[in-house]
Amino acid sequence: MSMVRDLSLADEGALKIEFAGRRMPVLQALTERFAETKPFVGHRIAGCLHVTTETANMCKALVAGGAEMALCASNPLSTKDDVAASIQRDIGAEVFAIYGCDRDTFYKQVQGTLAVKPTIVIDDGADLTSTIHNDYTELLGDIVGGTEVTSTGVLRIRNMSNAGVLRYPVFPTNDAATKHLFDNRYGTGQNTIDGILRATNMLLAGSTFVVVGYGWCGRGVAMRARGMGARVIVTEVDPVRALEAVLDGLQVMPIAEAAELGDFFVTVTGNRDAVTLEHMQRMKDGAVIANSGHFDVEIAVEALRGAAVGRRELRPNCVEYRLPNGRAVVLLAEGRLVGQSAAEAHPAEVMDMTFATQSMAVQYLVSNGKKMEPGVHPIPREIENEVATAKLDAYGVRIDELSEGQHQYLNDWRVGT
Ligand code: SAH
Repeated sequence: MSMVRDLSLADEGALKIEFAGRRMPVLQALTERFAETKPFVGHRIAGCLHVTTETANMCKALVAGGAEMALCASNPLSTKDDVAASIQRDIGAEVFAIYGCDRDTFYKQVQGTLAVKPTIVIDDGADLTSTIHNDYTELLGDIVGGTEVTSTGVLRIRNMSNAGVLRYPVFPTNDAATKHLFDNRYGTGQNTIDGILRATNMLLAGSTFVVVGYGWCGRGVAMRARGMGARVIVTEVDPVRALEAVLDGLQVMPIAEAAELGDFFVTVTGNRDAVTLEHMQRMKDGAVIANSGHFDVEIAVEALRGAAVGRRELRPNCVEYRLPNGRAVVLLAEGRLVGQSAAEAHPAEVMDMTFATQSMAVQYLVSNGKKMEPGVHPIPREIENEVATAKLDAYGVRIDELSEGQHQYLNDWRVGT
């Protein structure tokens, strides 16, 4: 039934899953708790996620809690075949994921996953949610609720909710502070730089580095580029975020102007056409362009291919396109997520918080989903606090508690005049 490249890779996968798991203490503690309390008995969970060691550890937690689980890839290029094999063989979730598979196979994998007839849906990019609402409406009756891990998926699901078509409650994991403050900022911040370096081995120090979009991912990328000694320019469409970048000490200007100055360009907008052919035509010879936003629509790759008079693959994930003006631009990972394609997905330390938050949200749905209206609901604050407290514990960091007097002060509307 399952679709994995080769089950005999499972031993290698198991080692990597264990190594990641050691750096996911909050999720480990949850796994032990779920193994004792079995909150998911009778539930069938369908997941569409990057098939990584970190996802494997979340599957382990959910299966330990009694869930029947099926998993497909949210992106065939981030699938680790050895990890997929071990999730199937050792963790016992049904896996439908093969690295680099084509579109048809990808869709078959989604179908295979939905054959579990889920009561809970865990999405990264809203592919399961939209497929269920378009083509598998007969499954809707059993579904108690879902979660969505990434910014772009949350946007899609909010659009579904606003259009009145979303038929079950969804927790936007991305909106939890324990997710975007760490996963988006430090995860994307680090692996974007990692991807650029692995693809080019260029020096960031002294370069001009343009970050297109100053959301949580953009903030992280800018912070890390600056830390490596680059001069960072931010381009934005949102006045508040632009102002934040200014007060963070960064230069802010329109992309059309930044285009002439940058040595590196990274798009992190969640929107299309953040870097157009027109911008690329203004760039310096050898400018490097990469995307770290969800879809490969942020850079006008098709237009670039159409206009280019020459194409050379310089290194893996590093292609030079020569433009009719005689200058060349270097596109990394074909404009797909550079961190996931040229480097690796986010490290276990941040995914610990993302997946602990998400697993607790799933537990909440199992108990309360039936009573919740269809729509997008914020993850309860107590879950964020519990995850943050457990993570601090794991780091060995202690904090203060409010005294009785401080507690009263904060809750008394009469004080302060
Ligand atoms: N599915 C899209 C992009 C989403 S990437 C694609 O690849 O085209 C962003 C999401 O991936 C984030 O919300 C993050 O939580 C998740 N992610 C990053 N690293 C991960 C990892 N190691 N394991 C599982 N998910 C990961």
